[in-house]
Amino acid sequence: MSAPVPKSPPASSKGRSATMSAIRRRDTKPEKELRSLLHALGLRFRVDHRIETRSGRVRPDVVFTRARLAIFVDGCFWHGCPEHSRKPQVNSGYWGPKLDRNRARDRENVAALEADGWTVFRFWEHDDMPAAADQVAAAARR
Ligand SMILES: [Zn+2]
Repeated sequence: MSAPVPKSPPASSKGRSATMSAIRRRDTKPEKELRSLLHALGLRFRVDHRIETRSGRVRPDVVFTRARLAIFVDGCFWHGCPEHSRKPQVNSGYWGPKLDRNRARDRENVAALEADGWTVFRFWEHDDMPAAADQVAAAARR
């Protein structure tokens, strides 16, 4: 018998829950933009490619297997961007530790990938994606 999985607390107001879902939706948009820019540059890469590391399975947003490049586009809220992430004041007992864990896991994943010889790029969702694509392209062609 396993213990029941605690549920996330309900959003405390309609406004809050609308904000949260907007954040979630926006998360994937810069990834898509980066992928289509990389395609337009003539690059071919893997999406949803899992990499086994010493800290478990990591799934970067874009992977170049031969060049050993792992690219992440991190959402400002979920990954704690210093410019845009304010820790939610509501349910802070839930969100604080959760977001701290996200960040700790991000650091572990990067360290584990680098230990295996991967070059890791991490972009924030607020970053300029054309500039990010150029950076990645330069590394992929090296
Ligand atoms: Zn940001």
